[in-house]
Amino acid sequence: MSRSVRRPQNETDEPLLRVENLTKHFPVNTGFISSLRWNSSGGFPLGLDDKSVRAVDGVSFDLYPGETLGVVGESGCGKSTLARTLLGLTDPTDGAVKFRGMRTTTFGSDEKREFRRNAQIVFQDPQSSLNPRRKAGNIIADPLEAAGWSEEERRERVLELLGQVGLKEEHYGRYPHEFSGGQRQRINLARALSINPDLVIADEPVSGLDMSVQAQILSLMQDLQDEYGLTYLFITHDLSVIRNVADRVAVMYLGDFVETGPVERLFTEPHHPYTCALLEAVPNPDPDVRGVEPRLVGDVPSPSDPPSGCKFHTRCPELIVPDPFTREEYHEYMAFRSDVQDENLQTDVEPAAVRAHYFGGDLPPDVERTIESAVSHAADGDWDDARAALAEYRSPCEAEVPELQSVADGHLLACHLDAEEREAFSW
Ligand code: SF4
Repeated sequence: MSRSVRRPQNETDEPLLRVENLTKHFPVNTGFISSLRWNSSGGFPLGLDDKSVRAVDGVSFDLYPGETLGVVGESGCGKSTLARTLLGLTDPTDGAVKFRGMRTTTFGSDEKREFRRNAQIVFQDPQSSLNPRRKAGNIIADPLEAAGWSEEERRERVLELLGQVGLKEEHYGRYPHEFSGGQRQRINLARALSINPDLVIADEPVSGLDMSVQAQILSLMQDLQDEYGLTYLFITHDLSVIRNVADRVAVMYLGDFVETGPVERLFTEPHHPYTCALLEAVPNPDPDVRGVEPRLVGDVPSPSDPPSGCKFHTRCPELIVPDPFTREEYHEYMAFRSDVQDENLQTDVEPAAVRAHYFGGDLPPDVERTIESAVSHAADGDWDDARAALAEYRSPCEAEVPELQSVADGHLLACHLDAEEREAFSW
């Protein structure tokens, strides 16, 4: 399935980076023995376990020269794997990355070298990404040395870069531990920019820094973008960080883009419940605006066994509830059904006790009959029949994968709620 975000076209612009249906799955088990599926009695192997971690599950986007695309989502939603796959640090499972119109997987050695020069990454943790035994000047000069610059040229360029990132000449000979976190990130930026790349992928570049240092680094990144005409892909778990930095935002959940659009629009008129939940988690800087209670509960499900349909449905506060349930009743029903699915139901007690364990009040008569039937099948050990009985009720959010569709110019959304049901959310 393709998830795309396309900027409204300016006819003369060619994208610097075009990503088409990019997919990166990792096998869950790497060993042959551990990848065998065994029959229930532990006898002959049934075949190979084809489970995989679906870290990036088919994303598409264009990145234009000089712009910043923010990619936002919680940890474990695939952002960093996306970055590594874009740069060729890991091979894609499917799809294509095109840099200036050329597929990166078809690059010969010269083109690969040129791509590595043109596309740099800045990692989150400036401490661990700097070799503690090497001086700052030498670290910054590494890409220049690899590109064949002479020692004198390297020194001159490093001194120039130190000034551009707000450090001093005297910092050239110091070791990473002699710098603060913010200064170490400046060294990282200087190294990334040393050979004039076109594209910088910044993976959580200000996480772990305190607020005032974050602001300084973000401002520095913007200055450097203006000066060098850089194109940024800015990855973060914190939406507030990119409001003043990004031109467009892609919200990522479990390997998919679920909402994409111009940054200001996404902040003022978000449509996806996940985007709204991320926004609710951001403290409002206006003391007169009362904070809202974040509605995002639970952890991101495992990408090796993602939920069916809309992957956000297990946590979505706006889940579409099938007739004849109320929202609360359907959540109880889902918990009950999940335990039947996993054969976790207690079957050695009275059926009424099983029912009371999951459901707080009276339910519509048809639903009561379905639950009774499932409990009875489970008590007889007929788990498949129990599961089949409960399949009668299913939210469209669990059944169908929502495709990204346009809700306004340049604003795309993957959600089954219709326009009326999507309450515009202001932050
Ligand atoms: S499709 Fe359903 S579960 Fe997914 S975000 Fe929309 S309302 Fe929520």
